[in-house]
Amino acid sequence: MEQLRKKIKTDGSVLSSSILKVDAFLNHQIDPQLMNNIGLEFAKEFSESGVTKIVTIESSGIAPAVMAGLHLHVPVVFARKQKSLTLVNDLITASVYSFTKKESNEISVSRKFLNDNDTVLIIDDFLANGQAALGLEEIVSKTKASIAGFGIVIEKGFQDGGRLLREKGYRVESLAVIHSLENGSVEFENAEER
Ligand code: 5GP
Repeated sequence: MEQLRKKIKTDGSVLSSSILKVDAFLNHQIDPQLMNNIGLEFAKEFSESGVTKIVTIESSGIAPAVMAGLHLHVPVVFARKQKSLTLVNDLITASVYSFTKKESNEISVSRKFLNDNDTVLIIDDFLANGQAALGLEEIVSKTKASIAGFGIVIEKGFQDGGRLLREKGYRVESLAVIHSLENGSVEFENAEER
């Protein structure tokens, strides 16, 4: 997605050879126009997949997921990282290790928001080593719902997550795929290659 790649170039910053900071438009401050176009792009990619629900993870997956839900006309459920006092019964959980924070979080979704006949599109802001995506897959797989695929805003192609998901047979649509963050600069994979 050209607009996203340009935004990453102009407003993203390379923190290290493995971490890209995008708090100017995705992870802290949010660019609503860009999110809307991201949602449209996901909606186009998955328009024929019979999606009935979007599942994401708080907090940075929520903005792109809501925009995709708006354009696909389906509800959006976000997995919680903290246990809520009002959300105690009938939780579906998975454990997710975060390489950026070096800690494991239990994530959870209330069973009442995932139906066995749902077709789920899983959306997240980043795909790095795939732990968050696999945690969401684990949650959906604990129901009889099916997974239409994964919509990722930024995939770091030099980390393993994309390969792991594709090897499991899932469709993964990433709107920007980064080939390298070496020497403080962002190199994209050729968009036509995937
Ligand atoms: P994974 O579970 O695929 O290793 O990492 C995915 C999660 O880690 C994303 O939801 C995102 O919050 C965070 N993450 C991974 N890599 C990056 C990165 O380069 N920049 C930022 N801002 N977040 C990242």
